[in-house]
Amino acid sequence: MKKMKIQIECPYCKAKAILRPASVVYGSTLKEKGRHLYLCTNWPACDAYVSAHKSSLLPMGTLANGDLRHKRIMAHRALSAFQRHGHMETWAVYLWLQMQLGLSREEAHIGRFSAEQCEQVIAACRQAMKLPRLLSA
Ligand SMILES: [Zn+2]
Repeated sequence: MKKMKIQIECPYCKAKAILRPASVVYGSTLKEKGRHLYLCTNWPACDAYVSAHKSSLLPMGTLANGDLRHKRIMAHRALSAFQRHGHMETWAVYLWLQMQLGLSREEAHIGRFSAEQCEQVIAACRQAMKLPRLLSA
């Protein structure tokens, strides 16, 4: 895929977000080597960024501030716990997620979710894990 530079706007302060090495935010750790993120040009005054895909450098979702990043991490954790609990394939988990939140396949990415949607994911996973394993019957 051709590497392209795309323009995105920070949803919080409306400034431009630009592609920067992840080390700008995380420091130079080995884990973040070669990684990039879209960072609000008002950073660190505005704490909004989103990771970029390693190969395409396209954003993994929408820019998020600290609160939203935390909620997305919690939603990911809830979803993996649900996946392990149900011994499900990743595609099946995302199909379930689409049905739970009434989303299309395109929309069902936690990186694009709002704080409210993340909370819905966490609640739906908690609820589902209380039920018997209907899917493995
Ligand atoms: Zn901003």
